[in-house]
Amino acid sequence: MTYESNIDYARKLDELDPLKEYRNKFYIPQHQGKDSIYFTGNSLGLQPKSTSTYLQEELESWKQHGVEGHFEGKRPWFHYHKFSKEVLAKIMGAKPIEVVAMNNLTSNLHFMMVSFYRPNAQRYKIITEKGAFPSDQYALESQIKFHGFNPEEALVELKPRKGEHTLRTEDIIAKISEVGDELSLVMMGGVQYYTGQYFDIKSITKAGQNVGAMVGFDLAHAAGNVPVNLHSNEVDFAVWCSYKYLNSGPGGVSGIFIHEKHANNTDLPRFAGWWGHDEEQRFFMKKGFIPMKGADGWQLSNVNVLTSAAHLASLEIIDKIGIDSLRKKSIILTGYLEYLLNKLNLDRKVLEIITPSNPEERGCQLSLLVNKNGKQIFDKLTQQGVVADWREPNVIRIAPVPLYNTFEDVYRFVDILKST
Ligand SMILES: *Cc1c(COP(=O)(O)O)cnc(C)c1O
Repeated sequence: MTYESNIDYARKLDELDPLKEYRNKFYIPQHQGKDSIYFTGNSLGLQPKSTSTYLQEELESWKQHGVEGHFEGKRPWFHYHKFSKEVLAKIMGAKPIEVVAMNNLTSNLHFMMVSFYRPNAQRYKIITEKGAFPSDQYALESQIKFHGFNPEEALVELKPRKGEHTLRTEDIIAKISEVGDELSLVMMGGVQYYTGQYFDIKSITKAGQNVGAMVGFDLAHAAGNVPVNLHSNEVDFAVWCSYKYLNSGPGGVSGIFIHEKHANNTDLPRFAGWWGHDEEQRFFMKKGFIPMKGADGWQLSNVNVLTSAAHLASLEIIDKIGIDSLRKKSIILTGYLEYLLNKLNLDRKVLEIITPSNPEERGCQLSLLVNKNGKQIFDKLTQQGVVADWREPNVIRIAPVPLYNTFEDVYRFVDILKST
């Protein structure tokens, strides 16, 4: 696609954008009485205007029915986790039986590792990317210690080649083969939170399983951002959160994926709770855990209805568009940002985009490594109404989100950047 660097052109792209009306479905945070340029949907997605209605409905049900709300009202709470299932399955490229919304992300990562990280003296290593999100690092290290192994030895971290910022798939695969029959688990981000690199889920999964390991992904930055096709890619398990690209509010409910091939495997150890128990018998209150089939069998607690209500509000919007159409706009929108930044950089060698330039290897986020005065530039952007994200020591993360960001946002951002 050939772009142009002027505001009329940006506005023309907005005019032609088939998703342009969706911005209106969100509240855009204000800066000095005007819409801010909100580029942090990768950290906290914006609030749909419909969220309060969904929440209000459940408050009303509670008000009117009290405990009977579990079985009364428009969406009885007993079944609440089922209302998000079909849409989540579509977004994640899964079958409904393979997904469920529950808990929070890091908790789910631990629960999944209870089932899928089962080290023994011979096979105990975990491969992950170096510089993974801190919560994931802590989870992996503590799981390794929990099983009596030493993280220094058991955790294998993938590093980019010298002078490079992102990983090459061939290097990931080579490391997987090298660790070979000592490898118990490959556990990586789907889209890396810092660099924005979208890993090759299919090839990594295949390579891990070829040496007899389990393969899981943390899709915090991938869910609602890129199509991940979890079922056809044969991923063993995955976890994500809903407050980033899924716009379900701070601390919103997380989601899990467990491949159908594990759906009925009752031999997998799991930390069980009553919401994973056969629902026909859940209220018999009897001894003896009988898991639900599929991902539902990994639930522990009764549904966190209020955060799940917010989840439904956003999922309804995403479902109207579909992940493929979102992705289509995303590629053009982020491509425009890249084009304008590269043009700017012709005159001033201040920034380096460390996110891969191949659209297949990234989502909507571009991570800008600022060579000089990074924090100063970032603060000036903030003063002028750009909501971006600063990561020590010198990276600004910019995420134009196809649901609510415009080509004009992108143009104005680069214009402001030029003037800093
Ligand atoms: C956002 C994010 C988290 C946050 O974890 P919570 O349990 O939701 O607080 C964890 N891991 C990754 C990769 C993330 O991007």
